[in-house]
Amino acid sequence: MGLKQRLIDWGRKLGGSPEVPAIPDALWDGVLVDLPFLTELTEAEQRRLRALTEVFLKQKEFFGANGQDITDAIAVSIAAQACLIVLHMWPLASPPAKAMAVFQDFVTIVLHPGEVLARREWVDDIGVVHRGTEALTGEAAEDGPVTLSWSEVKRAGSAAAEGTNVVIHEFVHKLAMQGPRFEGVLADCPRLPPGFMGSRSAGEAVEIWFSVLQPAFESFRDQVSLAERFGQPRPWLDPYGATSIDEFFPVTCEAYFVNRERFRTAFPTLLNLYDALFRSAVH
Ligand SMILES: [Zn+2]
Repeated sequence: MGLKQRLIDWGRKLGGSPEVPAIPDALWDGVLVDLPFLTELTEAEQRRLRALTEVFLKQKEFFGANGQDITDAIAVSIAAQACLIVLHMWPLASPPAKAMAVFQDFVTIVLHPGEVLARREWVDDIGVVHRGTEALTGEAAEDGPVTLSWSEVKRAGSAAAEGTNVVIHEFVHKLAMQGPRFEGVLADCPRLPPGFMGSRSAGEAVEIWFSVLQPAFESFRDQVSLAERFGQPRPWLDPYGATSIDEFFPVTCEAYFVNRERFRTAFPTLLNLYDALFRSAVH
């Protein structure tokens, strides 16, 4: 019997609707205890997160690749970390299913035991096409699955001190893929709530978004470059965030969600920006 059926049976036992799954206490507590950024949430936040996680588990399918086992604890842990992103996007009392709309373009989460080898093709500066493979800890495909590496996901508890979290990273990519398009082209920013930071239109909201994100990215990229070239101190967070602004957003979101206190000191302008996105409760 799969996890989904077990959760539905459990929900029925608790007197709920047969369609609504429920996560048993022992399973939920066992997942939380390994993730400091979830144990420090208030009781009301944890209740909300649990309700979101239940809906997530109902809507999504997990697939273990290359012999990877999907235990109940693994599925609940990944689901809970993904749902942390939308925890405060809507009021705590609003229907949990509404919050799942941002993850509507896919159903499957693929979990590999180790790094994922992805085929890549790229064109260099003089127009030569190269082909090769790249080792990834995760990937989010537009209108497709989220792929994760268990060897990285299972580090989530200890990696919080470093401000890293692969689940948050890949699901934030999903958020950017659901964002506004201008003349059919993705703006590469998430859907911003109405009146975002005082904006009067969707276009103005995107301008405000990049007016804060772009300088923070450039400063980070410069620090990484100085560290690599001249041995200056490396900035906090994964230098991978310096590769492009599209990666800087998910890399910094990892830290925002799993180590808010250190993030506040390192990226004060982004704390305000991300609070306006993730904690406005007016989506
Ligand atoms: Zn990425």
